[in-house]
Amino acid sequence: MRIAIVGGVAGGASAAARARRLSEEAEIVMFERGPDPSFANCGLPYYVGGEIADRGKLLVAPKQMLIERHRLDVRTRQSVESIDRQHKRLTVKNLADGTTYEESYDKLILAPGASPLRPPISGIDLPGIYTLRDLRDADRLQEVVQGARRAVIVGAGFIGLEMAENLVRRGMETTVVELADQVLPPWDREMITPIATHLIEKGVRLVLSDSADDFAPILPTGLTVRLKSGDELDADFVVLSVGVRPENSLATAAGLEVGPRGGIRVNEHMQTSDPDIYAVGDAVETRDFVTGDPTRIPLAGPANRQGRIAADHIFGRPSRYRGTQGTAIVGVFDMVAAMTGLSEKALRRAGQAYEKIYLHPTQHAGYYPGAERMSLKLLFDPQDGRVLGAQAVGRAGVDKRIDVLAMAIQAGMTVFDLEEAELAYAPQFGAAKDPINMAGFIAAGVVRGDCAVVHAADLPDTIVAEPTLLDVRTAEEFACGHIPAAVNIPVDQLRGRLDELNRSKRIIAYCQVGQRGYLATRILTQAGFRAANLSGGYTTYCQNQVAQTESPPPGGSRKKAAVAGS
Ligand code: FAD
Repeated sequence: MRIAIVGGVAGGASAAARARRLSEEAEIVMFERGPDPSFANCGLPYYVGGEIADRGKLLVAPKQMLIERHRLDVRTRQSVESIDRQHKRLTVKNLADGTTYEESYDKLILAPGASPLRPPISGIDLPGIYTLRDLRDADRLQEVVQGARRAVIVGAGFIGLEMAENLVRRGMETTVVELADQVLPPWDREMITPIATHLIEKGVRLVLSDSADDFAPILPTGLTVRLKSGDELDADFVVLSVGVRPENSLATAAGLEVGPRGGIRVNEHMQTSDPDIYAVGDAVETRDFVTGDPTRIPLAGPANRQGRIAADHIFGRPSRYRGTQGTAIVGVFDMVAAMTGLSEKALRRAGQAYEKIYLHPTQHAGYYPGAERMSLKLLFDPQDGRVLGAQAVGRAGVDKRIDVLAMAIQAGMTVFDLEEAELAYAPQFGAAKDPINMAGFIAAGVVRGDCAVVHAADLPDTIVAEPTLLDVRTAEEFACGHIPAAVNIPVDQLRGRLDELNRSKRIIAYCQVGQRGYLATRILTQAGFRAANLSGGYTTYCQNQVAQTESPPPGGSRKKAAVAGS
């Protein structure tokens, strides 16, 4: 069996190593266009920033190791130019000397990845505009940063924000421009505003709801980035991080099917429309784990798993790819944002019924030193309680909670299962009622009808219809800030002061994070009031207020939503 693999990094190298573990006899040839196979793309921003000082550490499995340990035929600086499916032959260009030659295959695995988008903006090809995909790009940026002072990053996705952190670390005055009205567009906006605030606190200038319209040179070096709003930003260099496009040209030229999102179409075994050709990683289109719809989510975990599955299937194992959940995490200076499954906006787009709850637990027991709050949002099916998605933003412990919820989604679990989850606990690690259990208790209470919730985003409408907004925090907390029109009866006094409340009106109770609001809602409900708890309390309310004030005007033209920082 002769297996040819196009692309030698995440998906390709995984497939090659797995194939060797399954067969000592197979001939495995891996073609990589660049000079390095199996390097750590995900570490590149931290290499530019100097956090990873040793370049060699980014070579996860150096070529020599792949040759010696896995007996792979690794051909770097060799680009596969075309596929002759009928004769099962590849045309390969040796980039070192420009010659071309042919190679045969029995099974072919395409793992060519995705290339950074370079939108057709005037001046896009000027010197000083960089993208970051491989080690050579990182080397170039390393050099450029020396002697530079000002950087503009276009795009506030993962790579854009990781670059912002690392350029600030290198002393750059850094501006991030983002077309959307929020950073990290896959997240829901009210969840991600603390990250935007944190970026600004760390000295990043953030320009939202605006985009680069034109690049013009500044002589002798540098660029002016003209924005759609008319503003201009001067920079010594620009980093473009506006997304990636699947490298599908080899596949389309060979007549392989491509899906509606531009990725190579594959089945659950990662086979393309030609059963002898597999495709994996950023170049493919798979199914969304929650909705079953076609999706394209370029992440390292899926690419690695898909590589294994393709190799398994070639050797007769029935491995199946279950779909991509979009479990993702990003560190932004001292904060962390993570998500899994569908966001609220994605659920809305998919037309899927959902309910949500917010909570703001600490990552470990509140009495133990170092307790820090995180914000957690759980999305679930309002009928059967199935977990559909989750997002968390904070510092310590965010990763652990999203990973647990990612497994819950994959196992098809419900909020009732989260109530029962038995998780590791000692005071410095978690809580006897872990945030996962708490999320389960709150959400299960909603599904069971024990405690109705109201959401901060719906509050203006709700207040008009139902004017009793009851703040159950202490008088001191109330005095430090409260929702307009709220009346204050601390929860500990509530039972004795029920006659102050109008029984004909529905009452929305709230506290700082939702817990005392829940207690108040239970007291009120059992006393015969119609009551609901404001999910996430005053904290979520404030996050929503920030998110709403950053909105572009309804129906109006886009304007700068937030400009701050250095
Ligand atoms: P790649 O790893 O991109 O490999 C494809 C390879 O194929 C390339 O090296 C290319 O040169 C080669 N190739 C293409 N065409 C040909 C051809 N015709 N002939 C020969 N060779 C060819 N994901 C995460 O989950 N977490 C992160 O923190 C994270 N951080 C990232 C940071 C950066 C800066 C970047 C760029 C990506 C990051 N990713 C992250 C995404 C992750 O790296 C990708 O999802 C993953 O590498 C995709 O694997 P792949 O095998 O499909 O493609």
